[in-house]
Amino acid sequence: MNVRGNLYIIAAPSGAGKTSLVKALLTHDNRVRVSVSHTTRSMRPGEHNGVDYNFVSMADFDALIADNQFLEYAEVFTNKYGTSRAWVEGQLDLGVDVILEIDWQGAQQVREQMPENISIFILPPSRAALESRLTGRGQDDAEVIKHRMSKAVSEMQHYDEFDYVVINDDFDLALNDLQSIFCAERLKRASQQRRYADLLQDLLSV
Ligand code: GDP
Ligand code: ADP
Ligand code: 5GP
Repeated sequence: MNVRGNLYIIAAPSGAGKTSLVKALLTHDNRVRVSVSHTTRSMRPGEHNGVDYNFVSMADFDALIADNQFLEYAEVFTNKYGTSRAWVEGQLDLGVDVILEIDWQGAQQVREQMPENISIFILPPSRAALESRLTGRGQDDAEVIKHRMSKAVSEMQHYDEFDYVVINDDFDLALNDLQSIFCAERLKRASQQRRYADLLQDLLSV
């Protein structure tokens, strides 16, 4: 019987560095996996279907909603994004920790269904840095970047609904902050009691 994994929600305004930080975290940590969302937005250069997102048509997305396949879904920047319920439940049951990179609306839906989540909000060091990262990423056109910047403040206003806040100024320091959160969560007594049940029984028996 596996110990059920922890569910992490990570949100940030577009361009704050959430995807880069999560990618870096995963290369050093084999006990955690990231959920690949479904989206109706078009694929960016360098993205791969099934890896970065499952890219689907609006009609396919609506069919998945009707079939109750999403743990949560939301409209973000005129596109729809959603998280597969079956994949997340399957991984947690296997004992794998799961990261959801989702927006604040999705985070609210997940909190209602799975209150035992751990949530992290990533902030940029300034508005100017956010804009230059969105531009520097070079994958969205000027109109899209303008739209994303205009939505950034309303996204960031939700930071206080999250358990942890990480400022992504220096990348390595922010990555270290993120790794520390995962480390501390795993060291919590309840987690350790589940993971080391046999050891504790052995150590404590009289
Ligand atoms: P990026 O975050 O700037 O790289 O832009 P994306 O196009 O990858 O994501 C756009 C928005 O959709 C972000 O706010 C994401 O957090 C959000 N998002 C991505 N996947 C999901 C999902 O499965 N569910 C929800 N609710 N939001 C998502
Ligand atoms: P998000 O997934 O939150 O939209 P990304 O991970 O795509 O953000 O990062 C946006 C851009 O900013 C990328 O080009 C990335 O390389 C860059 N970036 C991320 N973190 C930092 C940082 N700490 N300093 C400078 N640039 C960064
Ligand atoms: P992008 O289109 O730049 O990849 O993502 C834009 C935003 O969509 C990001 O801020 C991301 O968090 C959000 N997003 C991505 N996938 C999901 C998802 O499955 N659900 C929700 N609610 N938001 C998502």
